[in-house]
Amino acid sequence: MMNLDFRKGNGLIPVIVQNDTTLQVLMLGYMDEAAYEKTITEKKVTFFSRSKNRLWTKGEESGNFLFVKDIKIDCDRDTILIQATPNGPTCHTGSTTCFKDETAKGFVYELQDVIATKIDTDDAESYTNSLYKRGINKVAQKVGEEAVELVIEAKDDNIDLFKSEAADLLYHYLILLKAKNVSLESIEAVLKERAK
Ligand code: AMP
Ligand code: ZN
Ligand code: ZN
Ligand code: ZN
Repeated sequence: MMNLDFRKGNGLIPVIVQNDTTLQVLMLGYMDEAAYEKTITEKKVTFFSRSKNRLWTKGEESGNFLFVKDIKIDCDRDTILIQATPNGPTCHTGSTTCFKDETAKGFVYELQDVIATKIDTDDAESYTNSLYKRGINKVAQKVGEEAVELVIEAKDDNIDLFKSEAADLLYHYLILLKAKNVSLESIEAVLKERAK
């Protein structure tokens, strides 16, 4: 039972559910002891629904279950964080999460979107867009140049210059992915497959 403190919330503990790979926060619900036990034994998130006033296994009607990968208890044992693999959209509105999808993947993914916008709107002011328009070979060559600059800074011990070149490389790498019509998500998928 992990010594959970059910007293503070009159028998209910708030539970944050997070996607175990994207780390997106998916939803918040409550568990009583029975819900917690059922979640542990069945490895599917079960809440005590305050509106239904009964145990509610998320996905019981929709099939969009939350498969438990890890359970973490907070410092004073009155809140639960569950890392889970969702079987479909978690929100009953059809959204991936109950808190909307934007911003959830982190800044590098936002940057991917910013680059795509500059290119797709043919932004005349944009360095990114003008590089893109010079063609894929030119973009690839720039990635090569930034990689060489990073290698040079790696040999030195100026950490700020190293970080700056690392940022340049990542930025141009994202432009190259866009030029090849390959998403960062798909590269992440390749890495995840290898990590299995
Ligand atoms: P489900 O558990 O996905 O089969 O959905 C059963 C019912 O629970 C739905 O009809 C909604 O009323 C409700 N529900 C489902 N998902 C959520 C959610 N993420 N937050 C709040 N209520 C939900
Ligand atoms: Zn706490
Ligand atoms: Zn929702
Ligand atoms: Zn550079």
